[in-house]
Amino acid sequence: MTEMLSLTASLAPKHQEIVIGHASLIQGPFLTPIENGAVYIRDQKIVSAGPTAHVKAKAPNAAFLDASGYVIMPGLFNAHTHVALGFFRGLGHGKTDLIESFLFPAEKSLTPDLLQPLSYSYIYDGLRAGVTSFVDHYYFSEGVARAFETFGVRGWIGETIADLGGAFPGRESWNRAKELVEKSKFSSLISHLIAPHAADTVSFELLKECADYARINKIPLHMHLSQTPGERERVKSRENLSPVAMAAKAGALTPSSLVVHLTSADRQDLQMIKDSGATIGYCPTSTLFYDKLASIEDFYALNIPLALGTDCAASNDNADILEEVKIASLIARDHKIPLESLTPDHMLAMATTIPANVMGRSHDLGTLEPGKYADLVMLKQSLSSEPRDNLLANVIYSMGSRDVTHVMVNGSWALWNRDLPDWDENQLRADYMEAVKEIRNRIK
Ligand SMILES: [Zn+2]
Repeated sequence: MTEMLSLTASLAPKHQEIVIGHASLIQGPFLTPIENGAVYIRDQKIVSAGPTAHVKAKAPNAAFLDASGYVIMPGLFNAHTHVALGFFRGLGHGKTDLIESFLFPAEKSLTPDLLQPLSYSYIYDGLRAGVTSFVDHYYFSEGVARAFETFGVRGWIGETIADLGGAFPGRESWNRAKELVEKSKFSSLISHLIAPHAADTVSFELLKECADYARINKIPLHMHLSQTPGERERVKSRENLSPVAMAAKAGALTPSSLVVHLTSADRQDLQMIKDSGATIGYCPTSTLFYDKLASIEDFYALNIPLALGTDCAASNDNADILEEVKIASLIARDHKIPLESLTPDHMLAMATTIPANVMGRSHDLGTLEPGKYADLVMLKQSLSSEPRDNLLANVIYSMGSRDVTHVMVNGSWALWNRDLPDWDENQLRADYMEAVKEIRNRIK
């Protein structure tokens, strides 16, 4: 007799074998959605996915979770973020010197003990928007990793490396980064990145060391690149190269490179990105908030892979990647990008398969296909999203993070009925607010 489970039960089930069925199933971009679909999960992985009757027949011993009235889709990536900067939420409005007057002094006052609690808010925000994989870049990132582990989500951590600028300039940051990779012990949810800060804050020699280390150790490289006109000028006068050309010369542009923003890159730079096979981390809200949008016409004309990120609360008050998908699509329409490049499948790929690919994980993340890890998001359908002739368009344009109810990462529930199954949200909030108070006190 199959054990029947309900999505509205007060406690999240902890079964080794479970079928979630009778759902509207989106397995991933460019895969035909299935009405009355199911996913069969054993331990951490997806064993089978397809029509409910078909999947159920393969899983006679699994518990059955009835997901009638819900969408199941792949867990989403946030491909560029600094989750510990949640304490900036709301401060960026109406100020032009926030980075110099608050961000830099605040970062100089950071100590490792603050990083874990400071990361809680932005991770929680992202999780409730369906993010199961966070690609981060920050100082003292061991604390950031502990925060990802607290929520049971996947995190790629990259210790910010900079010898010529930033909060802690010097080669010490590079030693800290290597030590983190070589000595720290984390759960299987945590992966490493090599994270040079940007082309103006990192010397050519150090960038080359970082690129060599990343290549030899098969670790993805994640850096800001050509993110402001100032960076472009500084690198030009120092190296007589554009930031992108400097990165290319240092060996930092490969198919395992995630380079972020490119707002001051020209067509020649972008051609170099294209030729290298690197992916651009594209954060439309963040770049619109502080600076200017990149030449997205060139991104699309050159067909460069784009992975969406929210960046951080200093330039984007929320971590809502579903909102970012919609915004990216609308901006592209405004820039007259051909509509055939902006289908709902193309938009979903920017938050699933494309970031999974640059992280070297297309074999086990990014879609809900057999053999992949069970990272999935469930959204509750309602009167407000009917009718739904095109299921994926419905999710992106009619629904949103407010409809995300359940999130599974690695076969375990990280969000259950919009709550954390293993934590008291108020306790995490208290720890976070205490850390926010502390950092604000330090820079008074
Ligand atoms: Zn950033």
